[in-house]
Amino acid sequence: MKNFNFNIEQAKEINKKINAVLEFKIIKGNENGKFYSTPFLVKDNIQVLGTKNTCGSKILENYNSTYTATAVQKLLDAGFTVVGKTNLDEFAMGGSNENSAFGPVKNPWDLERIPGGSSGGSAAAVAAKIVPFALGSDTGGSVRQPASFCGIVGFKPTYGAISRYGLSAFASSLDQIGVLASNVENAAITTEIMSGKDENDATSLNINWDLTSNLNKKLNNLKVAIPKEVFELDGVDKDILSKFKETIQILKNNGVEIDEINIPHLKYTVSIYYIIAPSEASSNLSRYDGMRYGLRTENDALKKTYMQTRDKGFGLEVKRRIFMGAFTLSSAYYDAYFAKAAKIRNLLNQDFTKAFEEYDAILTPTSPILPPKIGELKSPLQYYLMDLFTIPANMIGAPAISIPAGKINELPFGIHLISKPLNDANLLRIAKQFE
Ligand code: GLN
Repeated sequence: MKNFNFNIEQAKEINKKINAVLEFKIIKGNENGKFYSTPFLVKDNIQVLGTKNTCGSKILENYNSTYTATAVQKLLDAGFTVVGKTNLDEFAMGGSNENSAFGPVKNPWDLERIPGGSSGGSAAAVAAKIVPFALGSDTGGSVRQPASFCGIVGFKPTYGAISRYGLSAFASSLDQIGVLASNVENAAITTEIMSGKDENDATSLNINWDLTSNLNKKLNNLKVAIPKEVFELDGVDKDILSKFKETIQILKNNGVEIDEINIPHLKYTVSIYYIIAPSEASSNLSRYDGMRYGLRTENDALKKTYMQTRDKGFGLEVKRRIFMGAFTLSSAYYDAYFAKAAKIRNLLNQDFTKAFEEYDAILTPTSPILPPKIGELKSPLQYYLMDLFTIPANMIGAPAISIPAGKINELPFGIHLISKPLNDANLLRIAKQFE
């Protein structure tokens, strides 16, 4: 990673094909830092002073960052250089990058296909070797799913491990900054630097992590569980299943103990996510009213200005989430939807807590499908189902990682590991062992 050669002209040429980077901008880190001049990209919903922060939205098209996110600042202090900001689904809502106001990102493995999302720009840029790693945000899988679709590593640490100060909020109880990297080692090095308490984020954890010293040491007597539901739930592609079974066999041959278990509430994951995340989003996005940030349509009446600004500024998917969230939080429906979803979130947590008493990690495919062609999926539901295996980690605040595990029909296939909260160092060791 240290001697990675970044050539801006070359990067721009590559980017013409994939539309992964919205803005190239060099912000140099500390000259005395260990990683001086090693380049990285930042998802365009994380503030970096001197760059825009569009969130992939028209409403923030001309909005400039007013400060630098803590996570980015820590990397700059260690010498890393920001080289630009990456494309994303608008406000990180989506799993395909087709929801960006600035055009879709293309998957470097097949330019007709989506790179996944919402951190699709970061994933595509790392896969196209523009940078050795990039920052993303993960609310329901947005670091891990695009990593899987682009054949790289995507790591979402324990909730609160990395400060969210400077990350534009989507669903605050689920949001987490994570790393998309060319390998597990780069993910571990950068997460170690970014993690720790930040007084600007009350949910940040007081941790002082060593994720790297033992990374190459094998864990003995490893016990891994696979939820039976992977093989039972609808919507998991059969090529994915057969490749997944092959992977299990390889791991078993390498001495890993693998059992099947039940995660009874896994089948409700997508349903509760699409109540909780839009509810939080509808509240978080109320700040984009044309008064405080970005776009403002001119009108003589205040209420009309709010409405027109939001109508012009937000795209379809963001509006859909705001509608859903406003509905599920409304006093008439709160108990029927939000309160119920919150209860099931607790039950899901219990399922996983129980599993972690016996197992080091839980293994699934990262995505139930391979990357579809741009425009191929028609209904929002088809997109929502892509997050089946990645959402639980956000719901329970646990660390999770996607690592490449070969190809299916020339397209990258990724496997996904979740471990118990704060067990990030061991999870990375397991991932390294499986890499
Ligand atoms: N695809 C999910 C969604 O649309 C997850 C997004 C994310 O993790 N930011 O909400």
